[in-house]
Amino acid sequence: MSFLAAVGYFVLGGSIGHILPRFPTLLMSRTKGFNTNFPQHPEAIPLSPYLTQRVLHMRMFYWMGLIVVLFPLILGIASVRWGNAAFGFGMWIASGWYLLNRIQSLIGGQTPPWTKEMAIELQMISNREEYGSSCCNWFSPYWQVTGVVCVNCDSKLSNMPRPDLGRKRTDRKPLGFLRLLMSDGYPMVALSDEEE
Ligand SMILES: [Zn+2]
Repeated sequence: MSFLAAVGYFVLGGSIGHILPRFPTLLMSRTKGFNTNFPQHPEAIPLSPYLTQRVLHMRMFYWMGLIVVLFPLILGIASVRWGNAAFGFGMWIASGWYLLNRIQSLIGGQTPPWTKEMAIELQMISNREEYGSSCCNWFSPYWQVTGVVCVNCDSKLSNMPRPDLGRKRTDRKPLGFLRLLMSDGYPMVALSDEEE
């Protein structure tokens, strides 16, 4: 096998190892029937039990990747041993990196893009109306890109930036997919928001 071919196989194996464990968060909730309770992709989402549940679902899909990653991990090792070594090594490196990354978020460092705390905070904001502590009489909280805002009186209710919520993306096909792969579901504005 020439050097170039080996590099090609390595990159191919690495790409598969990178994308495969992300399949649950990339695909599971994108079909149309899944999103009838939400407005279309870039628009703000009104807070509702559906939204809270969606955050919890995305969290579940995120951790599901830990099971899915076993396939490229084992396949990678098998391929190094009995098949195309460059391909297997690429796959093994990418999925091993994924595994380390996820385990790292268990013991500290960056929290996952979807957490239980996030769902709880959304629920607490929704509950404000019930407890009479809402900002105005027509309390209507929406989750915008940079945080939760009451669209009736414009008060900012939370600075929590909105992660990807599994809606079908309206940007052009390969771009939306690439953006998701690069951001890994994290909100695109997370960094600029922290500077405020
Ligand atoms: Zn208000």
